Amino acid sequence: MSQEKQANYDDNNIFAKMLKGEIPYHKVYEDDKTLAFMDIMPQAKGHVLIIPKQQAVDLADLEPEFATAVLMTAKKVMAAQRQVFEREGIIQMQLNGSEAGQTVFHYHLHLIPSSIHELGRHAVTQADQTELANMAKQLTAAIAT
Ligand code: AMP
Repeated sequence: MSQEKQANYDDNNIFAKMLKGEIPYHKVYEDDKTLAFMDIMPQAKGHVLIIPKQQAVDLADLEPEFATAVLMTAKKVMAAQRQVFEREGIIQMQLNGSEAGQTVFHYHLHLIPSSIHELGRHAVTQADQTELANMAKQLTAAIAT
């Protein structure tokens, strides 16, 4: 993880704990600067989150090299979502600040296979763990090919 820690960054947020290996998650992809995993309360089937390995609260804190890395990972994940879920429409979303509805204060990009007109509610309904694990496996395999 980059040492460029922001003063307002809480080391104990849930995504920081994932990066430290302290809590489980359904991994889709990882490289030296990013981690992608299944959203546990998806707004549509196949909802993935991408986080930088930098202690950034929101977009304002994100260093250019991590911004680039997040987008490069997003391109890989989106291609895999299109292949696995056989749909073209993928929403890219990112919330900055609690006023915008941000609930986890480590920067993350949402990639949601959905139309904006069909999007489910934000962070409300927990998905089945086995289904999430299966989707993560399929997406990982699609990225690797
Ligand atoms: P935001 O409100 O933009 O900060 O989004 C936070 C996202 O994290 C929501 O979509 C939640 O469903 C998701 N989330 C919260 N806890 C977990 C977790 N343990 N594993 C995966 N996703 C999570």
